[in-house]
Amino acid sequence: MIFTHDTELTLRAACVLVNSDRRAADRDDLGDIAGLDDYLAEFGWTGRRDRDFAELAEVHRLRERIGRLWAAADDEERAVGQVNALLSDTKASPWLTRHAEMPEWHLHLASIHDPLARRMGAEMAMALADLIRGGELRRLKVCAAPDCDAVLFDVSRNRSKIFCDTGNCGNRQHVAAYRERRGKEG
Ligand SMILES: [Zn+2]
Ligand SMILES: [Zn+2]
Repeated sequence: MIFTHDTELTLRAACVLVNSDRRAADRDDLGDIAGLDDYLAEFGWTGRRDRDFAELAEVHRLRERIGRLWAAADDEERAVGQVNALLSDTKASPWLTRHAEMPEWHLHLASIHDPLARRMGAEMAMALADLIRGGELRRLKVCAAPDCDAVLFDVSRNRSKIFCDTGNCGNRQHVAAYRERRGKEG
């Protein structure tokens, strides 16, 4: 394991958050409150829920912000500035906890009474800080398929992953390359 379990889980959650409206042009997995419920359940988020449109809109704003941060991952200084701003804006204050959804000790970065998007933002900012401290920022990538803007968190040993997991992009590119070769032979 490269990172602590909570850092890795939070970065996976951040990746899925950013991709939730990038998997298809006409689809937003977090387009309604039920979609947000599913996402939060998948990653075991706990604490305060308002279940209203203001909360959903805040999560959408966080999604944009994390997406911009992902896009800045090849510029360490810029990414650091964005992570520091997110830590500050979310008033991140770490404390250790464990609970039924995650029985291993892990960090929470805000009170369970704070608004959802602030808690999510603080935990994602802390996980990103962990990544940067480890010199691993370049594991944040944008899919190499020309028609895809989904992001990926590359946990492969040699950081060799270039395609996202959302749209079968790796296979599509292999098929395209194969057709290209066949075309040239024929
Ligand atoms: Zn927890
Ligand atoms: Zn892709």
